Amino acid sequence: MEESLLLSLGLAIVLGLIPAAIARSKGLSFVEWWVFGTLLFIIALPAALFAKGAKSRPSNPTNQLLYEGKVKRCPHCLAIVAADAAKCPKCHKAL
Ligand SMILES: [Zn+2]
Repeated sequence: MEESLLLSLGLAIVLGLIPAAIARSKGLSFVEWWVFGTLLFIIALPAALFAKGAKSRPSNPTNQLLYEGKVKRCPHCLAIVAADAAKCPKCHKAL
């Protein structure tokens, strides 16, 4: 009885490594996801797979605005323009 309990605990700890490894590859905390994966593997695995990693979040403000769709880049001169602009303020070409 005690052996099977230890066996399933060991299995849970090993299974917990899977979402932890996925989370770490996305720049998230390995230990936090390991604990989460050990306790709730069934939930942690899809959560890790669909989690938005820290790496995918843009770090600078311009990229953040581009990411949120508030601004866009002019395809002609690459200037940053408002998302709803019809004409580029820099090169005056239609967007
Ligand atoms: Zn332009």
